Amino acid sequence: MSLIKVQNLSLSYHGHPVFEKLNFEVNRDDFLCVVGPNGCGKTTLLKCLLGLIKPTTGKIIFADNLDANEIGYMAQRHHIDANFPASVYEIVSSGALGQTKLFQAYPRQRIQDALKALKISNLAKEKFGHLSGGQQQKVLLARAIVATKELLILDEPSNNLDYRSKRDFYRILRELNRDFAIIMVTHDLDHHNLVGNRILSLDHDNPFFGTTAEYVRRVHAH
Ligand code: ADP
Repeated sequence: MSLIKVQNLSLSYHGHPVFEKLNFEVNRDDFLCVVGPNGCGKTTLLKCLLGLIKPTTGKIIFADNLDANEIGYMAQRHHIDANFPASVYEIVSSGALGQTKLFQAYPRQRIQDALKALKISNLAKEKFGHLSGGQQQKVLLARAIVATKELLILDEPSNNLDYRSKRDFYRILRELNRDFAIIMVTHDLDHHNLVGNRILSLDHDNPFFGTTAEYVRRVHAH
């Protein structure tokens, strides 16, 4: 049984269709990249999966043990003021808010584990606003990990990262994919950066859902 199954999903804003009759599924070990030009509906789709927007028609079927409020979500990066007063530990802990009793039993351990997985335990007391862009992204990813045991949804997490930080960040994501399914919106489709085993393209001129290898073959064939 897949973790998420999307059937004939359509969404319109004020009568204007953003996407129509989307079908795809995500399995427990998948790393799905969602691609397509700006404005094609990538963020809107993520919000539908998170239950923040109701689709016009169609269905999103979750596995029995996955609840929409137990998904680790990392929104698109916004500029964060250097004077932002919260510490790294506080930001990561906030991932545990609003969770079920199951999680509440072990939040401290989960926070420590997430800091360790991202190799940022040494930054726990630092002010978030003082960190580099790459470090901040790791903190936000750690917060998303604390919020879930199954699925991470990431909206352009590597935006604004330099080449080195990006490579480092993707290496971490591949490691995390051993424990979590990942759905990630990305524009990084050049071969050095290709991550993930599946691709969903919302490009109206080039719609696609399948393996990354098939997608690459298709791009080469054109
Ligand atoms: P992407 O993430 O691929 O850049 P979005 O999901 O942000 O695309 O947007 C898809 C389309 O829906 C765009 O044309 C955008 O202008 C429109 N849109 C996004 N959010 C809203 C909204 N809240 N109300 C009306 N239109 C919206």
